[in-house]
Amino acid sequence: MGEIAARAANTAHDVATIASGCTDLARLDDAVAACRACPRLVAWREEVATTKRAAFAGETYWGRPVPGFGPADARIAILGLAPAAHGGNRTGRVFTGDRSGDVLFAALYRAGLANQPTSVAVDDGLALVDTRIVAAVRCAPPDNKPTPLERDTCAPFLRREFELIAPTLRVVVALGAFAWNAWWPTYTAVYGEPLPRPRPAFAHGAVWEGGPATPALLGCYHVSQQNTFTGRLTDSMLDGVLARAVSLAAAH
Ligand code: SF4
Repeated sequence: MGEIAARAANTAHDVATIASGCTDLARLDDAVAACRACPRLVAWREEVATTKRAAFAGETYWGRPVPGFGPADARIAILGLAPAAHGGNRTGRVFTGDRSGDVLFAALYRAGLANQPTSVAVDDGLALVDTRIVAAVRCAPPDNKPTPLERDTCAPFLRREFELIAPTLRVVVALGAFAWNAWWPTYTAVYGEPLPRPRPAFAHGAVWEGGPATPALLGCYHVSQQNTFTGRLTDSMLDGVLARAVSLAAAH
């Protein structure tokens, strides 16, 4: 994150005002990291950062909202749900330091979209290629379940992030149904396009293409332990989705 002192958002109105005024990703990242607009999530992220998991007892948790990660001229966006309590909320980088991230970054590396297969800390040298990862909700929620109000309060950050990367963006990979559904209001807000009717349903491998001026949407089961440990999402399934994303990004 940059050296810009961001004003902390304390209300949904603040989030909308501050997000719309961010003229580049560095400012947006700083504004996200300073946000305190959702009381339940602020309390949870800070409580987790204080109580910690035993394995990380010696670490200082980030305990704040987690900005997006990846280059500003990305052609592929990976849209997740929210940071993990002991992953992004601990390390300060999305999908970093947890089992979901282990699976995701290994796959991104195999696809040529990351310079290394692991993501353990903000200073580990990881760099993404042509790809930016963002969460629909930027604070770790209890039970990984943000409320609709929290999702909507955070939405202006998501919208602004996609507005800023829109010039190069060609594909959005939605990790799970929550991200898939969070895409539609973002899509209409950023591109001024009507919602498709009927609304395309989330499915692993589903592809929706609205037109040449808008990015394709690609569905992928979330890389949660619940999915990867049970075999619902395998490495080869994830590789298949990322290969399709690379192919769509080249074609659009
Ligand atoms: S979820 Fe989003 S809007 Fe709510 S406090 Fe976190 S960063 Fe702010």
